[in-house]
Amino acid sequence: MNWKSEAELVEVLKPTPGPGQVVIKIGGAGACHSDLHLMHDFVDGQHSSIGWQPPFTLGHENAGWIDSIGAGVSRFREGDPVAVYGAWGCGECGKCKAGFETYCDNPANSVIPGGGGGLGLDGGMAEYMLVPSERLLLDLPEGLKPIDAAPLTDAALTPYHAIRRSWTKLTPDAFIVIIGIGGLGHMAVQIAKATTAATIIAIDSKTEALELATSLGAKYTFKVGDEIQSKVKDLTGGHGAEVVLDFVGSEQTMALGASLCRVLGDFTIVGIAGGVLPFSFFSIPYETSLQTTYWGSRVELAEVLDLAAHHLITPKISKFNLEDAPQVYLDLAAGKIEGRAVIVP
Ligand SMILES: [Zn+2]
Ligand SMILES: [Zn+2]
Repeated sequence: MNWKSEAELVEVLKPTPGPGQVVIKIGGAGACHSDLHLMHDFVDGQHSSIGWQPPFTLGHENAGWIDSIGAGVSRFREGDPVAVYGAWGCGECGKCKAGFETYCDNPANSVIPGGGGGLGLDGGMAEYMLVPSERLLLDLPEGLKPIDAAPLTDAALTPYHAIRRSWTKLTPDAFIVIIGIGGLGHMAVQIAKATTAATIIAIDSKTEALELATSLGAKYTFKVGDEIQSKVKDLTGGHGAEVVLDFVGSEQTMALGASLCRVLGDFTIVGIAGGVLPFSFFSIPYETSLQTTYWGSRVELAEVLDLAAHHLITPKISKFNLEDAPQVYLDLAAGKIEGRAVIVP
């Protein structure tokens, strides 16, 4: 990919693992909305703070099998099924040791600051992918196939991390509102159902997305344009929801989300549409926490893989060949993909 352009299919060389490195044969690579933001919205200079540059191979949600290992790699053998943890930090600082390589304290020593394969370095939309350290690979639990595991590494890990942060507020009498039932939102519904006893309210602009949300565990669904505010107020005894997750992050969804929160609630913005929300003493209820999240930790990814292996969460997948990938991104931009598109080279 390049900034300000569509994805393109090109020939690349098969990588060779250096010391400590591993090459994966890709079994699945998810196509993510954030790739569209990279392709369409990022420009040199304005986004130089991310510290990396195109061109690189897309695909930051990856799983497959060990193809070859470099000197000193001890945990894996050829053919082992693995998921790739996508954020590649320094591996040495406190955050990395705790598994939060997303927030590596040492960007100068990171493999790539805030990124990984598919985000600054070559990702999984190719037959093979180089992973710089075995620490970034997780064994797939029994019964979980790479094609199903791939979208879990972001489309499930990101909502899992966001929901896990708010677990203490998601008691049996609580409500959680999930805005945007796409690749991440449809996983959020399942994760909220599998890991909390809260009542789930789903919001989207498309009827099919809301039907999917209902089938996955949402008790109430509302379409954008319905009188959502008053309906959620009614459902929640006039209080609002304990937790609101916004998987879009536009001006419109953020204003809606903030209006649905209750006192002492959590409003978490996960979507990167770049909306702005006025924040003042009077703009949100007392002691509502407003936060963003980015991806999740290695430990959380292990928990997500485990939930999936126990069939408690299942990504809805549309499968495509590598040749289809450029079209998949056009369809994703047009809102024509249901669940998660996974490229299988
Ligand atoms: Zn993503
Ligand atoms: Zn680090």
